[in-house]
Amino acid sequence: PLYQQASYLISAPNVNHCPEDSGFEVAFAGRSNAGKSSALNVITSQRGLAKTSKTPGRTQLINFFRCDDERKLVDLPGYGYAKVNVNTKRAWEQSLSEYIETRHALKGLILLVDSRMPPTEIDLTMLDWTLSLELPVHVLLTKSDKLKKGPAQNSLLKFKQLLKEQYPHATVQLFSSLKRQGLEQVWSKLDEWMEY
Ligand code: GDP
Repeated sequence: PLYQQASYLISAPNVNHCPEDSGFEVAFAGRSNAGKSSALNVITSQRGLAKTSKTPGRTQLINFFRCDDERKLVDLPGYGYAKVNVNTKRAWEQSLSEYIETRHALKGLILLVDSRMPPTEIDLTMLDWTLSLELPVHVLLTKSDKLKKGPAQNSLLKFKQLLKEQYPHATVQLFSSLKRQGLEQVWSKLDEWMEY
């Protein structure tokens, strides 16, 4: 697929430094450690594309990856660092909300949530936020290889129920970067949003 040709383009500290707002973009967001970098690397079949390093400085940036002339994948700053101070948190919220609210090219958001844990407050805030913006969301319940089949299905059903009741703009699937489980499903969601 197209995503395997993705290459690093640029990192932006805020919306003003982002590349031209044209074409199609799909952004990836999630609590830090949810498995966002691993997912991006598997989706693009490039081990080193998204850095899995946990340096908060670097992860504050909005990272752009070019798929073709019209299409980009966007790695948004991970949230939920236990130790960041209030100012860092504000800066994160500011750049993230600005990007999501103003970016015309943004066609959908992939939200990464650890399949073994309930969604965090910020995950729910992201869902509320995108609902009011009418921005489609696709949730990846990550690290599904760490759950047995029964608990994994339970986790999926529970999330589906939540979406049905409160977030009709969102869909959900199980995902494992380690086992490459659910990869085809993510690719087809990206194709749909990118009109590929
Ligand atoms: P990020 O902070 O959201 O970018 O998370 P990373 O991709 O860096 O992953 C955080 C940790 O979870 C790392 O130790 C990964 O090896 C691990 N991890 C990520 N995806 C998977 C997965 O699908 N299965 C398993 N078992 N571990 C994973």
